[in-house]
Amino acid sequence: MTETVTNWAGNITYTAKELHRPHSLDALGALVAGSPKVRVLGSGHSFNEIAEPGAEGVLLSIAALPPVIDVDTAARTVRVSGGVRYAELARAVDAHGLALPNMASLPHISVAGSVATGTHGSGVGNGSLASAVREVELVTADGSTVTVGRGDERFDGAVTSLGALGVVTALTLDLEPSYEVEQHVFTELPLTGLDFEKVAAAAYSVSLFTDWREPGFRQVWLKRRTDQPLPGFPWAAPATEKLHPVPGMPAVNCTEQFGVPGPWHERLPHFRAEFVPSSGAELQSEYLLPRQYALDALHALDAIRGTVAPVLQTCEVRTVAADTQWLSPAYGRDTVALHFTWFEDTAAVLPVVRRVEEALDGFDARPHWGKVFAVPAAVLRGRYPRLGDFRALARELDPAGKFTNAFVRDVLEEAS
Ligand SMILES: Cc1cc2nc3c(=O)[nH]c(=O)nc-3n(C[C@H](O)[C@H](O)[C@H](O)COP(=O)(O)OP(=O)(O)OC[C@H]3O[C@@H](n4cnc5c(N)ncnc54)[C@H](O)[C@@H]3O)c2cc1C
Repeated sequence: MTETVTNWAGNITYTAKELHRPHSLDALGALVAGSPKVRVLGSGHSFNEIAEPGAEGVLLSIAALPPVIDVDTAARTVRVSGGVRYAELARAVDAHGLALPNMASLPHISVAGSVATGTHGSGVGNGSLASAVREVELVTADGSTVTVGRGDERFDGAVTSLGALGVVTALTLDLEPSYEVEQHVFTELPLTGLDFEKVAAAAYSVSLFTDWREPGFRQVWLKRRTDQPLPGFPWAAPATEKLHPVPGMPAVNCTEQFGVPGPWHERLPHFRAEFVPSSGAELQSEYLLPRQYALDALHALDAIRGTVAPVLQTCEVRTVAADTQWLSPAYGRDTVALHFTWFEDTAAVLPVVRRVEEALDGFDARPHWGKVFAVPAAVLRGRYPRLGDFRALARELDPAGKFTNAFVRDVLEEAS
């Protein structure tokens, strides 16, 4: 490749021969049809080789296509091009008095790239971001466009698709009337005696943070919709200053706290669109497991906190409602998500990732598709009951495996 292209974190340098940025759908279709191997790069916020097409492949960005954000106020939907980032989408939707049901911790990520990996926010009643998708438009291997909507038997495979089915050029999402959210932060929530179900359901979206240097949680973030009751939170003390979830980072990078109400898209993400999200120098891992295991899994992590803490910036605990998408880490089960923001040191972090995976063994944990993990592909395959259906869909839409890279091949490989 003539230019060096890395992911956001800088831990992956793509080896593809070229990065193409077509300016029209016709150019995109021709490029796909004429290339033997293609992967799309979204905003590059994944931490592993999921987007890597390999040295002989073409890496394709759709960021230069004319952006489309068509809001249908009567139907309460938006059709958005895949390369648009959530920050831009949210502002446009809000200007029409409408809202998305949830957002991730940052608004910097592209819509197509986020839903492709099962990206989520938090809330016992909130599904992953892909749950809001009602239709997806793909340019498939021969350059033609295929539209798959809810009700189509292929739909549950077509959204959280790891980029393995084609180039997602546009998606239509469900919206709801706009709402306001206030953010209340608490400190020092003990693990001993934790009623996880009550804490996780204390507001529309709840996140617990810990550095695991001590037992329990350093911070609890409650995001309350102002059209829902104000919860009491008797388990921890209100914060006395604005906080960043990563110790030592400036709180100015974060969305407004102290219960100041504001638009949904300026409170649901933790990090403000104008600032670098998180710490900016990091690796991330995350494991999604059935919510019923939350307390046992937290105690299992507490038991190894001496190993985890030295390479950890922060650990975040969230919830995700069950969904029906075949490759969603929340498929078929209400979920607790255990996230780790590590220091930016792959050699030091990888052994700890393996240790965390051992500690979570027995909890049927599914790693986040876009983050660092070491779970062997054969084990992963056993954790997705509808993987066979996805494999068949990939064969139907991409018979020659043009959109399959090493990462996807591992996931889809059939046992011999
Ligand atoms: C600071 C930070 C905070 C994060 N916070 C969260 C969080 O709160 N919750 C969470 O769940 N995750 C979080 N993530 C992970 C992030 O949401 C995912 O990695 C997500 O996939 C990023 O979207 P992207 O556009 O950058 O995708 P990329 O990393 O660019 O790509 C991801 C996958 O999507 C595919 N893809 C991208 N665009 C298309 C397209 N148009 N058509 C077909 N395939 C496509 C790629 O080929 C690849 O397989 C965070 C990451 C960072 C860096």
